[in-house]
Amino acid sequence: MSERVIPLIDQRLRSVAARVPSVLTPPGGLLADSMGRPLRDLRISVTDRCNFRCSYCMPKDVFDKDYPYLPHSSLLSFEEITRVARQFVAHGVHKLRLTGGEPLLRKNLEILIAQLAALRTVDGEPLDITLTTNGSLLKRKAQALKDAGLQRVTVSLDGLDDRIFRAMNDVDFPVADVLDGIAAAQAAGLGPIKVNMVVKRGTNDHEILPMARHFKGTGVVLRFIEYMDVGATNGWRMDEVLPSAEVVRRIQRELPLVPLGATTPGETAERWGYADGSGEIGVISSVTQAFCGDCNRARLSTEGHLYLCLFASQGHDLRHLLRGNVSDAELASAIAAIWQGRSDRYSEQRASLPPDAGTGTRRVEMSYIGG
Ligand code: SAM
Ligand code: SF4
Ligand code: SF4
Repeated sequence: MSERVIPLIDQRLRSVAARVPSVLTPPGGLLADSMGRPLRDLRISVTDRCNFRCSYCMPKDVFDKDYPYLPHSSLLSFEEITRVARQFVAHGVHKLRLTGGEPLLRKNLEILIAQLAALRTVDGEPLDITLTTNGSLLKRKAQALKDAGLQRVTVSLDGLDDRIFRAMNDVDFPVADVLDGIAAAQAAGLGPIKVNMVVKRGTNDHEILPMARHFKGTGVVLRFIEYMDVGATNGWRMDEVLPSAEVVRRIQRELPLVPLGATTPGETAERWGYADGSGEIGVISSVTQAFCGDCNRARLSTEGHLYLCLFASQGHDLRHLLRGNVSDAELASAIAAIWQGRSDRYSEQRASLPPDAGTGTRRVEMSYIGG
């Protein structure tokens, strides 16, 4: 087996300064990129820190005690995040997802949620606000999050086998505590709850069926995510990817499934329903079946850099505008100019890249921009 090369890089040094264009573009509720894809979904990373060390995301040997996490002064404040989000909403965003790192590590997150929940879409509707978490702090925080205006949560859980899960999170965190968090979220009304399972062939693929059986009929939507070549530190290899088609085949054999249509344009998951009507699952085939054609997602890093693709190697620094003397109209125009120039479609191009294209490239880490 070849040795893995895990380059240590600091992607944060490579953003370009966002600029206010000479002609301002007043937000009109619909903003298309260079391929005609509208801007609909904003993912906001509220911290680059995490209490887990999932090997596919923040491997311990890179994200150790010497790793240069962002200092507090670099983080966008809640007011700054809300101000940026307001401009995105004016451009047509109607879904916000809080992520990280582990978003529940950010102190007083409920205050941010309450501020975001007060925003309205261009049609005057409340926004769809959700959060992705590893679930470790959910039991304690679920009710406060709901009270602040959070509508739903997605919880990551890579299996029910305690030994495997403790090894995958690499901090010995038990499955039972995540399940308690999911139960607390259900009790608080943060549903429909989604559970994300990253499938790594040879590591946790034997957990696909136990997970499907466990969540079938509970109202929880289990989603299987193909292990992705995000960032530059996880030592990704194609032979560790289990294609979603195989996930569906394995479940089908025991629990018959029928295909369901997409509910919203740009949806990342392909949906399947249990034939007996007892719920649904989703598969996210980021590696084997690209869905860049209608990708409507922008990502805001913890320090206010805008990324146009999960696999981007360069961000656009909005924070210097926020902390400079720019008006909302100028900020909105700077965002418009960046989105209008977007042509990213990494997953569609992956197949034509050399097999080691990810190794040593300077892609942004997922823990920095969120999933
Ligand atoms: N800490 C939170 C969590 O784990 O839910 C939120 C941030 S995490 C980066 C967001 C999602 O990305 C999680 O569902 C995680 O499993 C997924 N993820 C991280 N690295 C991945 C990889 N290499 N391939 C596929 N999914 C990945
Ligand atoms: Fe932390 Fe989430 Fe990354 Fe795991 S996937 S290391 S929980 S940020
Ligand atoms: Fe969107 Fe980039 Fe993923 Fe394609 S590769 S779906 S453009 S985030």
